Amino acid sequence: WGVRVRQGLSRTRNNLGKRLSGLFGGGAIDEDLYEEMETILLTADAGVSATTWLLEELRRKVKRNGLTDASQLKEALQEALVDLLEPLAQPLDTSAHHPFIIMLTGVNGAGKTTSIGKLAHYYQLQGKSVLLAAGDTFRAAAREQLMAWGERNRVAVIAQESSDQQRGDPAAVIFDAVNAAKARGIDIVLADTAGRLATQLHLMEEIKKVKRVIAKTEPGAPHETLLVLDANTGQNAVNQVQAFDDALGLTGLIVTKLDGTAKGGVLAAIARQRQQKVPLPVRFIGVGEGLDDLRPFVAREFVGALFD
Ligand code: GDP
Repeated sequence: WGVRVRQGLSRTRNNLGKRLSGLFGGGAIDEDLYEEMETILLTADAGVSATTWLLEELRRKVKRNGLTDASQLKEALQEALVDLLEPLAQPLDTSAHHPFIIMLTGVNGAGKTTSIGKLAHYYQLQGKSVLLAAGDTFRAAAREQLMAWGERNRVAVIAQESSDQQRGDPAAVIFDAVNAAKARGIDIVLADTAGRLATQLHLMEEIKKVKRVIAKTEPGAPHETLLVLDANTGQNAVNQVQAFDDALGLTGLIVTKLDGTAKGGVLAAIARQRQQKVPLPVRFIGVGEGLDDLRPFVAREFVGALFD
């Protein structure tokens, strides 16, 4: 498990982990050291709030445990990071419903379609049957991309023919997919939706409607409403999560492209956003473009991969 994550996180490790480890070589624990740590965490997109919390936590640990040398800080910081990230690590349990319906949302290019392909593979490896719903009816390319993932994984894709003049109806596609899944005894339905920005209010209304239609087809569904978030989104990630959650009531996140960024600290920012509230779990992280490069998020392993 950890090998792919470790490889995928190499850029963040070089930026965040190695620079922090450099500070922990030895020497006094002084204000300069805290300031340098602050800069490094901010550069990795941990955000002001999470950075402030982490440094305060570190100061508390230094005081409580009577730490005097910088070399003692590495473990203390790792512990603080695990404490912060642990609430996000709640694996998705798909056994409670049959079929279990997962809807994926997010901005264009975040990695929704790719993540669906990877999820299909992941669940098939667990012996589950999967069906894909091509709910992105805006772009013909999105439908074709999903069909290609379907072929690659040998799973059925429910789609609707559409032309430039006549756009398919995403709610209808997903409705058909849910019914097909029930008829065929499928375990998991993965529903793609068109990319949209939280600021595109008419599109946000549309996806709310899609969700309502799914709920009418299958009471209680979708059982999981995921926001797919590109790790390169930077500090705007927190706003994006908030806006999609306000509109849809998210139950989880997939954070993609952690392999392409040196700014994996964004997970700390996301964790801090809900630290005193009900956490929004990071169900999976994307650490590459391959079928195997979507992994459940495990806080301790993530933090370990940042520093090793
Ligand atoms: P969508 O518009 O949200 O459906 O985004 P796509 O699934 O089409 O993904 C956009 C691009 O991001 C594609 O080139 C994917 O291969 C790439 N991508 C998605 N997830 C990851 C990831 O975890 N790592 C890397 N390196 N690339 C990814």
